[in-house]
Amino acid sequence: MNTANTAKLTARVFCIANQKGGVGKTTTAINLSAGLAKHGQRVLLIDLDPQGNATMGSGIDKSTLEHNLYDVLIGQANIEQARVHSENGGYDVLPANRELSGAEIDLVGMEERESQLKQAIKLVEDKYDFVLIDCPPTLSLLTLNGLAAAHGVIIPMQCEYFALEGLSDLVNTIKRVHRNINPELSLIGLLRVMFDPRVTLQQQVSAQLEAHFGDKVFKTVVPRNVRLAEAPSHGLPGVTYDPSSRGAQAYIAFGKEVIERVRSTSM
Ligand code: ADP
Ligand code: MG
Repeated sequence: MNTANTAKLTARVFCIANQKGGVGKTTTAINLSAGLAKHGQRVLLIDLDPQGNATMGSGIDKSTLEHNLYDVLIGQANIEQARVHSENGGYDVLPANRELSGAEIDLVGMEERESQLKQAIKLVEDKYDFVLIDCPPTLSLLTLNGLAAAHGVIIPMQCEYFALEGLSDLVNTIKRVHRNINPELSLIGLLRVMFDPRVTLQQQVSAQLEAHFGDKVFKTVVPRNVRLAEAPSHGLPGVTYDPSSRGAQAYIAFGKEVIERVRSTSM
């Protein structure tokens, strides 16, 4: 590696977003983090959801945190003080719990209220290859902070009938944020999750997605796999809990695809 590349050694920051709940955002955030770590990447996972599922699913107890993302957003701690290493996942976590819901209110009165997370990440951006942000299922000030800090958005989605409709709302949101707040923001890609190839409708929606979005649809497809759903109750990413399961294998492959996509687009 030569010094001319130094400017590129800052982290790629990606939001995992979809305004629907229960579509696999957190599962994707945790397992992509673990998958990227398996490929030797340095990863920070930011839990932007007050439910703290990404925190717990990484094996970190959200009830005993010294600091959490809330403290970082309101300027009472920095990321280096608040982050916790996930031994189980091989990546760092900026954890969250219910306190984070208060940040909505505290941020409203602050100047540059959408860019607090972006400012906070600057301190560590040369320490990581990837920063992944697990977004809540709302377009709140928290989510805006995520979108304002990111280079791109990865959208996990189930291939169901109404999925396409919800998608156009989200794509419009990304365009608006791109125009008004963060000109660097782009759609990185759509990830098909909880996929069951035996369901004809899912095959049809999947084909429509490819027709509409072309290369923006990731080649990796994550199957519906019970091992991925079991893993969080053990405080483990599915990728660590049962590495040979089909779900884990898919997320490991997805990690590789994300690395290749970043390299090929020199993002
Ligand atoms: P979100 O963060 O979008 O609300 P989650 O990642 O929490 O969604 O997933 C919702 C539920 O679906 C969880 O119980 C999770 O364990 C389960 N789940 C997610 N992905 C899969 C999958 N590929 N196969 C089986 N269950 C899954
Ligand atoms: Mg979630």
